[in-house]
Amino acid sequence: MTWSHWQVPPFTTSVFFVLGVLTLYWVSYNWIISWTHTHQIKIADDVINTWYGLAYMVLFVFGIQSLIAGQSNAWEFMNFELIAITFCAYFLDIRIPYTLLFPIVLVYMVFDGSLGYWQSWAHAVTLMVFFVILNTAHTRFPNVRRPFIWYCLTVIPFGGLLWFWMKLKFNFSWLTLGEEWLYLMIFETLLYIYVSMLTHDAELRLQLAKFASHDALTKTGNFAAYTENIERLFQQSSRDGRALSMMMFDIDHFKTINDTYGHSVGDTVLKEVAATVQTVISANDDQVSFYRTGGEEFNLLFPGYDVAATKPIVDQIFTAINHLEIHAGDDVIQLSISVGVSAITTDDKAPMDFYNRVDRNLYYSKRHGRMRITVA
Ligand code: GH3
Ligand code: MG
Ligand code: MG
Repeated sequence: MTWSHWQVPPFTTSVFFVLGVLTLYWVSYNWIISWTHTHQIKIADDVINTWYGLAYMVLFVFGIQSLIAGQSNAWEFMNFELIAITFCAYFLDIRIPYTLLFPIVLVYMVFDGSLGYWQSWAHAVTLMVFFVILNTAHTRFPNVRRPFIWYCLTVIPFGGLLWFWMKLKFNFSWLTLGEEWLYLMIFETLLYIYVSMLTHDAELRLQLAKFASHDALTKTGNFAAYTENIERLFQQSSRDGRALSMMMFDIDHFKTINDTYGHSVGDTVLKEVAATVQTVISANDDQVSFYRTGGEEFNLLFPGYDVAATKPIVDQIFTAINHLEIHAGDDVIQLSISVGVSAITTDDKAPMDFYNRVDRNLYYSKRHGRMRITVA
């Protein structure tokens, strides 16, 4: 084997070229995402996906077209370009305004020197409709059954029509048109399989990450998530002097509920309590985070709140749980909680100092009759 003589058909090389381009996108996208996460840069992952994906594919299309623009074989890379367009429209979940499509296509036509050909205009219009249909199919109807069949039903006729315009412009044979159309279908199928495998893998990783940070019973953050967040918020507060408050609560006489009604009723109580707190948070401020830090002990972090600012939310949670009625057979279980609240001070050298003060407040509530809130 030498650099100049690869004994493989161009089609095989093309397949690996396309897969390589996609893999490079995936690897670089994941690198950017983890970089933004570690540097606490607040850009949503799907915004990066949209704009990085679009820039990557535009660069790819213009890059390969620059090799042959204006030549008689300028159609040779069209299948690669159609793959890039399909990838952007269908797989990236891109939500760009469709009005952006026309300027992009126009710049491409100027670049390609094809403004003067009516076939190129027909091709451009077909391409835009193709993009919109693929994009709508995926973003508006994500739960459609048998998506692969719908994907093929879009890709096959549009692929044929796009190649037909190019046949009229460059006057190559019907056989060439048929071949290219067939290659495109093979590429599009491979693209579908490849992306499905990659996204399945990504979803799995996402699920694992969720399991690692969530409490399965109450659907709140777990102790690991609490530790990670308090470290981050504590550092932020120490650095910027931003307020930070914490509320901790523990269900009163929870062991009695378990002993009287059984563990599964105890579990239901935990779920109901967590759901109640979550409802109060959602109605007030989603920046407040909520964790189960022990068996029947929970913790809330209020970034940007001093103690006074937490009062309405703390009171609402306290009242809501004390009024919660949980049915166990013919009985109605009445609950109460003991609460400790505090805000970060400049004397706190580590998150533990802050945590211990809130904990002491909670135990003050416990020792002084339970069902009360201690703020200090
Ligand atoms: P206090 O008012 O002093 O907090 O009394 P308590 O009974 O609530 O506290 P204690 O620490 O004596 O008991 C807590 C109980 O919570 C003991 C443990 O079996 C139970 N528990 C911990 N995790 C779970 C759980 O996931 N499900 C259920 N059902 N019970 C749990
Ligand atoms: Mg308890
Ligand atoms: Mg406890």
